Amino acid sequence: MTAAAAHIPAMKETVTGIDLVGLTRQELEAELKSFGLPAFRARQLWHWIYHRGATSFEVMTTISKEMQRTLAGRYVVDRPEVSRSQQSFDGTSKWLLRFADGNEIESVHIPEEDRGTLCVSSQVGCTLTCKFCHTGTQRLVRNLTAPEIVQQVLVARDRLGDWPAPKDGRLVSNIVMMGMGEPLYNFDEVAKALRIVMDNEGIAISKRRITLSTAGVVPMMKRCGEEIGVNLAVSLHAVTDEIRDVIVPLNKKYPLSELIQACKAYPGANNARRITFEYVMLKGVNDSPADARALVKLIRGIPAKINLIPFNPWPGAPYECSSEEVIQVFGDIVNAAGYASPVRTPRGRDILAACGQLKSLSEKKRKSQAAPATAS
Ligand code: SAH
Repeated sequence: MTAAAAHIPAMKETVTGIDLVGLTRQELEAELKSFGLPAFRARQLWHWIYHRGATSFEVMTTISKEMQRTLAGRYVVDRPEVSRSQQSFDGTSKWLLRFADGNEIESVHIPEEDRGTLCVSSQVGCTLTCKFCHTGTQRLVRNLTAPEIVQQVLVARDRLGDWPAPKDGRLVSNIVMMGMGEPLYNFDEVAKALRIVMDNEGIAISKRRITLSTAGVVPMMKRCGEEIGVNLAVSLHAVTDEIRDVIVPLNKKYPLSELIQACKAYPGANNARRITFEYVMLKGVNDSPADARALVKLIRGIPAKINLIPFNPWPGAPYECSSEEVIQVFGDIVNAAGYASPVRTPRGRDILAACGQLKSLSEKKRKSQAAPATAS
């Protein structure tokens, strides 16, 4: 085995073959090399997989029939199963993807006039237990792998007919890491996946069109800026530790002062590339004019915009959404202080596809259900 091949992570090997989707360029080259194939094949395959959206070797017309058969004898370019597909009256689509081990996650596509945004998941379930978030009621099952993250983009393009993606007018033009899970708790796989997504000879979505949202995993924020370089969104939601401790329990580990410090130090943030602070409007909890004034004070000096998110209800949720008037007053105060404060229009609420409504049925086995450890 070559030194490069030694770094190949456990690849998905199905009965039909090794899946090439989701390998980095270096991994793909190393894999092909171990099969005796030269580097230019990796480049050809990269083009077919990520620019053309090929799901079989037969369609790769720049590759000889014989070579197609050779590749098909060992490899696949696979897709996970789409176990459910739903569309909202407003054009939002939600796909439930089922991976080989049976675990499921959701991705959401939100079409707008000037863009199409894909909301991508990073974990099956979530560990953060934010009180207002539906995904938070589902226990973490596992991190997604880089291939599983990339597959969400490929499936969306398949479903929308967005191959080969044009330069302008793409249906998937933007990506937000705002689906299920905490992306900074799965940093390595998320970084790897986003590098594949950004690669210019493939999916080619630029880092300026990608936003990663974190609940505030402070120690990973710097690396996110330095190593991935995407836009940062921070789920702030409260301006005092007292309230944030309750609604975003991660705050007990990384309190507001540390979070704000990490935002101030975020590499690449400037007036042209602001940090987005997400702020969910919860009736009577965090939505007073005093909260708005404290918010402005808290983020002073950070190039920022505030995204006000009307709370999206879900079955059994312990909160209600603030009224339109209250949101308006809050937004006006923030705006008067010089920060853009758009109110996020809820999309896909009717199919539970809006922020914080995603939840799959994948459940972590309780200890008592897990297979007993075998005595040796
Ligand atoms: N764990 C990351 C990524 C999830 S992003 C993070 O917390 O940022 C999902 C966004 O939707 C977050 O800003 C989250 O706080 C917000 N959200 C969660 N539940 C919501 C709800 N019920 N209504 C509106 N927004 C919600």
